[in-house]
Amino acid sequence: MHRIGAHVSIAGGHIKAIDRALEIGCNAVQIFCASPRGWNFAKIPESDSDAFAKYAKNKDVTPVYFHASYLINLADTGRIGTLSKQLLTHELKIASAMGVRGSIVHLGSYKDNGKNHKHLCDHISMILEKMPEDVEFIIENAGNRKIGKDIDEIAEIIEEVKDKRLKVCLDTCHLHAAGYDLTTEKSYEDFVTVFDEKIGLERLSVWHLNDSRDPFGSLRDRHDNLGEGLVGMDVFKHLLNHPKTKHIPVILEVPGFKGEGPDKQNVDIVKSLLV
Ligand SMILES: [Zn+2]
Repeated sequence: MHRIGAHVSIAGGHIKAIDRALEIGCNAVQIFCASPRGWNFAKIPESDSDAFAKYAKNKDVTPVYFHASYLINLADTGRIGTLSKQLLTHELKIASAMGVRGSIVHLGSYKDNGKNHKHLCDHISMILEKMPEDVEFIIENAGNRKIGKDIDEIAEIIEEVKDKRLKVCLDTCHLHAAGYDLTTEKSYEDFVTVFDEKIGLERLSVWHLNDSRDPFGSLRDRHDNLGEGLVGMDVFKHLLNHPKTKHIPVILEVPGFKGEGPDKQNVDIVKSLLV
């Protein structure tokens, strides 16, 4: 069965997100652990995390993913780097308690042309040391000049850190922005082959399914509703139906046709593309 999810709000409590996902026809979901705009260390009582895990399971909304804070920069050598490490360590413990599969993370950016690379890998290793066994640290590919716009760069980090809980999220808008062409059957097949060789398909935890308002290769990454942007429906069709990727959950982070976030109309488009 295809797992189709969307990023939804946690307003009123995490558990409400499950209902919001169901309302728009999803059977998977992505949420923030806490507000992503500040250094918020969520406090969630055990009874609440248990209730969340049970509810998501009963309603068959699975997997659930966290999207980590936008402030995180694991390549930073100062206070921001330390806070980033602490926040993610905290969040991944909560993920385990709530039955959340893992946190999807934008790694951050280098100030100094890659000089902070060792720092980045050290930070990731330190987080993994304290991370429960049953959750994933999921690196999202970037669609701008930040860390992770190239598959090779992600492969290098994974090779260096060496941990089976280190996974990848591929965002179709960001791949488009970074100049990865997936529009033909051949180009998609080639991409899957290269990804498998360099990183390994078993590392691909989730797709972010977004169209793009910006041109191919522009390194700009404003999301758009499926079919309204410049990515092209064929890309979505390929990844949803290719034998090697059709089992991977997809999460929508689109603006919504009414501008209120992912909606049923976008979810229905995904369903219409399934062969
Ligand atoms: Zn994304």
